[in-house]
Amino acid sequence: MLVLGGGVAGCVLAARLSEDPARTVCLVEAGPDHGTDPDAWPRSLRDAHALPRDHMWERGVAVHRLRARVLGGSSCVNGCWHTWGSDADHEEWTRAGGPRWSAAAMAPYRERAVAAMRLRPVPGREFSVWARAALAGARELGYQDVDMGVPGAPGCGTPLLNALDGLRWNAAFGYLGPARSRANLTVLGDTTADRLVLDGGRVVGAEVVADGRRETLTADTYVLACGTFGSPGLLLRSGIGPADELRGAGVRAEVDLPGVGANLSDQPGVFVPRAPAPDLDVALAAQEEEGELYVSRMLIRAASTCCPADGWDLHILPSAGDPLFGSLPPGRYEAGIAAFLMKPASRGRVRLRSADPAEPLDIDPGFLGDPDGHDVAVLREGLEIAERLAATSALAPLAGAASAVPPSELTDAGLRARLGTYWHPVGTCAMGPAADPLAVTDGEGRVHGVANLRVADASVLPSVPAANTQLPVLAAAELLADALKEAAS
Ligand SMILES: Cc1cc2nc3c(=O)[nH]c(=O)nc-3n(C[C@H](O)[C@H](O)[C@H](O)COP(=O)(O)OP(=O)(O)OC[C@H]3O[C@@H](n4cnc5c(N)ncnc54)[C@H](O)[C@@H]3O)c2cc1C
Repeated sequence: MLVLGGGVAGCVLAARLSEDPARTVCLVEAGPDHGTDPDAWPRSLRDAHALPRDHMWERGVAVHRLRARVLGGSSCVNGCWHTWGSDADHEEWTRAGGPRWSAAAMAPYRERAVAAMRLRPVPGREFSVWARAALAGARELGYQDVDMGVPGAPGCGTPLLNALDGLRWNAAFGYLGPARSRANLTVLGDTTADRLVLDGGRVVGAEVVADGRRETLTADTYVLACGTFGSPGLLLRSGIGPADELRGAGVRAEVDLPGVGANLSDQPGVFVPRAPAPDLDVALAAQEEEGELYVSRMLIRAASTCCPADGWDLHILPSAGDPLFGSLPPGRYEAGIAAFLMKPASRGRVRLRSADPAEPLDIDPGFLGDPDGHDVAVLREGLEIAERLAATSALAPLAGAASAVPPSELTDAGLRARLGTYWHPVGTCAMGPAADPLAVTDGEGRVHGVANLRVADASVLPSVPAANTQLPVLAAAELLADALKEAAS
């Protein structure tokens, strides 16, 4: 079995599929494999205090394009936060993929992922003055404490973390670590999958490039796990996608699948800066001195007036520390509250610019593009909640307004200019029944119209969960690995 893409999902698949010694598994990753010894990994990828900017596919690009290129994928560069979505997410996924995707059926997969990734609650020492006050402020606004690691209700609380003592524990450690010594598992780093070769409705090979040399790898089953941007890119380069669009890019259409690259769904957000009081800077500096300053450690799951009962469609995320972008003089920090749109109606798209794999993909996140204005309206409500949180008796003494215009009163253009992302793209190889013209895969990851090809990463989720996506993607990959094992047995 050939697994293309060694990120979060790819590591799960390679580990689970190679549990059976009778099955030979080869994992192909474009980025480097830094090996089995966590201490030998680059410090930037292990340090959980910050988001590294090395080991990325592209440099100096719009933030929504960021994605890791290294064995372990984006688990090596991300914020280490884990939360779970609402029952409504599972209803959406079950409609598309069948009963395997219900909350109850996915619970064991979530638990496996929690164990493998060593997820743990936030230790008390990692709370900054700002995070502690934000938790008190949330309670002041009436939010109840909730467990963020399971489906449930709106409320406030803390995420689970894949970091211990300041060090990130990524999917290559969590999943491949115990599997690497198996004789039936091969891991190829620095090897880029260029295209699949098709013949008679089957994949007969995968052309990969390593050290400038091209070769064709063959297997009985091909599983794509190149992520929400990489997997549709690979399908499109292989001639699997919207036939007219492929012709425009100079690629011969092999299988007309209009949904490939469509339905891109990510969670945009706006950060509302506050002006830290001197006491806050002093407290944050003291915590940094102890090595325990983390930018965010709590969140609110909030419901806008557009949200169905019992769910939530916003994350309200207070943060304080070194700025994510740029820098401040020593002893000065950035503090504020972000509002993220968790269930966007807008959809973007991934397209090929040309057949040349070296040409960057055309990625349009489609943020706030829905014609009904749902997303702008919900985001504005999120900003109002952020303002109310900042004004609570717990938070107000720590920081004042940074601008005369409240963010919820920004013009639409002002809002768009300040838009960031939570980095949770999904949906570009969405699962759904074969009768759905935009479905790319079925509920077990099989690509419609190609016999021995599956996709098993974030791209198969037809809608983004009301959560950070790493834990849902880990659980989805566990589920899809089980589906593959059952089909093979
Ligand atoms: C900056 C950032 C911060 C984030 N923070 C969080 C967070 O705090 N919490 C959270 O839950 N989620 C977070 N996420 C999202 C989370 O990391 C993703 O949801 C998750 O990694 C998706 O897993 P995946 O396997 O689909 O893709 P990835 O983990 O991105 O893996 C895809 C892999 O495929 C490889 N690949 C791509 N194309 C090819 C090719 N042609 N040939 C060979 N290999 C290829 C890539 O190099 C990569 O290793 C963050 C993401 C980013 C980018």
